[in-house]
Amino acid sequence: MNQIPQEPSELDVWWREVVGEDVAYWVQPVRLDAGRRLHVRCLTRAWSIQMQLLGRPVTARLNAAYPELAVAGIVSAAAPLRLLVLGPAHWPHHGLLTASLEAVWHDVTQLYGTMTSSVFVHALDCAFGAQVAVWARFAGLNAEGHAPDWDTCGPDCPADDPEHRVQRADRTTFCRTAGRRLNRQMINLGADMILALVPADPASARRLAADLRYAHAAQIPAWEVHAPGAPPRSS
Ligand SMILES: [Zn+2]
Repeated sequence: MNQIPQEPSELDVWWREVVGEDVAYWVQPVRLDAGRRLHVRCLTRAWSIQMQLLGRPVTARLNAAYPELAVAGIVSAAAPLRLLVLGPAHWPHHGLLTASLEAVWHDVTQLYGTMTSSVFVHALDCAFGAQVAVWARFAGLNAEGHAPDWDTCGPDCPADDPEHRVQRADRTTFCRTAGRRLNRQMINLGADMILALVPADPASARRLAADLRYAHAAQIPAWEVHAPGAPPRSS
C-alpha cells in the first residue's frame, strides 16, 4: 500500500508540524519523488544552504513523527539569490548607488559564487528603482520591480482622518504610507541581503531604520550606504 501523501496540502500540514511555522514560512514542501526524496522550495539562497545542513535531522524528525512517509532525504531547490534595495523616493547620489551596487555584488559573489539567476528586487515607483533595474540589466542580472498600492489604505491608517491621504491634481487621493508598507511587503517576500540607501532627511532615515530592524528580526543582513550628511550608523 502506498501511504505517501501526494496532496500538497497534506504534505504541507505534516511539514509544518515537524519543522514549525517559522521554518515552514521560508521552506515549503513541494513533492515526494519516486525515490521518496522530499523536494522543498526555499524562499532565499540562505535557507537553501541551511536546508542542506539540516536535511538529515529534519528527515529524521519527519520519519519519527510519520514513519509511513519513509522520507529518504530532502532536496532543496536552489533559490535565486534575492537582493533588496531599499531607500527614499528621492536619492540624487547616482554615482554612490552604482558604486554600492558594484561593491555589494562583489561581496555577494565572494559569499555565494556567481549566479546569473540572481534577482534584484526594488521599488518600482521611484528613481533609484529605475537606476537599479538599468544597472542589473547591464550586469546580466534579473530585476524585479514592485509598485506601491497608492489607492488602498493599510490597517494602521487612521480611518477617522481622511486628511492623511494626499490629493492629486485630478482630485483623486492616495495614501502617503503606501511606499512604507511596500518595504515591509518586499521584506516579507524574503531576501538574502538588503542594500539600504540611508537618506540625509532624519525623518525618512528613522523610517528606514525601523524597516531595517524589521528585516533584522527576519535575519536578513543589511549593507547601509549613507548619503552625505545622513545621520550616523544606528548600530
Ligand atoms: Zn492610508
